[in-house]
Amino acid sequence: MNLLNTLVDKGLRRETPTREEALAVLATSDDDVLDVVAAAGRVRRHWFGRRVKLNYLVNLKSGLCPEDCSYCSQRLGSDTGILKYSWLKPEEASKAAAAGLAGGAKRVCLVASGRGPTDRDVERVAGTIAAIKERHEDVEVCACLGLLSEGQAERLRAAGADAYNHNLNTSEATYGDITTTHTYADRVDTVRKAHAAGLSACSGLIAGMGESDEDLVDVVFALRALDPDSVPVNFLIPVEGTPLAAEWNLTPQRCLRILAMVRFVCPDVEVRIAGGREVHLRTLQPLALHLANSIFLGDYLTTEGQAGRADLEMIADAGFEVEGADEVTLPAHRAAAGGGCGAHEGAGACGSHGDGGARGTHGGEGAGCGAEAGGAGCGGHAGAAGSTAAESAAAGADAARTDAARTDAARTDAARTDAARTDAARTDAARTDAARTDAARTDAARTDAARTDLVAVRRRGAGTDLAPNA
Ligand code: SF4
Repeated sequence: MNLLNTLVDKGLRRETPTREEALAVLATSDDDVLDVVAAAGRVRRHWFGRRVKLNYLVNLKSGLCPEDCSYCSQRLGSDTGILKYSWLKPEEASKAAAAGLAGGAKRVCLVASGRGPTDRDVERVAGTIAAIKERHEDVEVCACLGLLSEGQAERLRAAGADAYNHNLNTSEATYGDITTTHTYADRVDTVRKAHAAGLSACSGLIAGMGESDEDLVDVVFALRALDPDSVPVNFLIPVEGTPLAAEWNLTPQRCLRILAMVRFVCPDVEVRIAGGREVHLRTLQPLALHLANSIFLGDYLTTEGQAGRADLEMIADAGFEVEGADEVTLPAHRAAAGGGCGAHEGAGACGSHGDGGARGTHGGEGAGCGAEAGGAGCGGHAGAAGSTAAESAAAGADAARTDAARTDAARTDAARTDAARTDAARTDAARTDAARTDAARTDAARTDAARTDLVAVRRRGAGTDLAPNA
């Protein structure tokens, strides 16, 4: 496919694709999904090899948020049954972080619900960063505390934070549809503040909230313009009790196309699969490792992920390896530029904010193409019948020729008939296959309609007496 060859070439050169090319990736059919993964996988391997960076979420403060982000189970007045607690003490947060680090994570993402931190909150988080780094000198710490006021990014950087996460989530045009208590511009401003303070900027999106392909391309191009070091891609988990609870629109193939598009637009950036990985990619999660070079280990902020051990087994089985604490995540040119997720002394990494927890997915499409009819068969060959002509009898020879011609004609007719029968059979088979494919797709669509069985509110880890999942 010319499109994919072009996108691989551009990705290897860090050249921005056109919007039309990005849209075309999202418009590819399910039949082409392996080609899309293979192409984007070449770009991923060029910049990140087969390494997978593991990140671990610690929810410092859960629920009770005054904002109204419609995808979030921590929003004002939400009735989602999530854990609600105020700030963890530094020792509690450090203990939770230790579980993730023991499981193989190299970055800890410290997240707190709320519009943004007070200066007192920044001091609390500074104490938590100190407690974590005292026990784990090499750990990357990313803070995710909401909108930042003047000077707060600098104070976090001085306290030892390596990165700051604040997601754009969706396109500027649709931002007002998902949140009314702050604006898209507010979010852009915070990402810029983090960048300017020398923190490694982390900013991503949520797919599956009812947005169009154009919206997805808009937000990914906006992210490229902001130039974060890492881009978390969330697939909306439609948690019961949130306004987006009915938005079950994503298919595993759609998720792969979205990740591939992000990889092509942001080729040398840490692309992280965030919330919704297990719910929407399901058994295709290993394929997504060919596109993203980073995932969260264990649970999300408010919902459960698969067991940490299962994450590690999946990585090994798919032929990837967990990135070590002594390895630099970003390509040399990016790490040297000062951002450097994973480049320790550089500036760190990023986490995911805003929810991680309940993000579902939507996005519809899923279409797919009917089964291809396969190359029609050819009829039998008419074979040149030989004649045994009598040398002396021209008439005999003519007769023989005539017979031979008749025989040929008969064979040709027979072959045509056979070919017609074969074609008819193939057409029927194709129709049957197409019908089966349609049925399978219908089933898949039904299955996708609501996989509430895969959504579980987190009941363990930080903020509870139960052991964390890592
Ligand atoms: S995403 Fe963040 S700001 Fe929005 S409701 Fe959730 S916790 Fe509050």
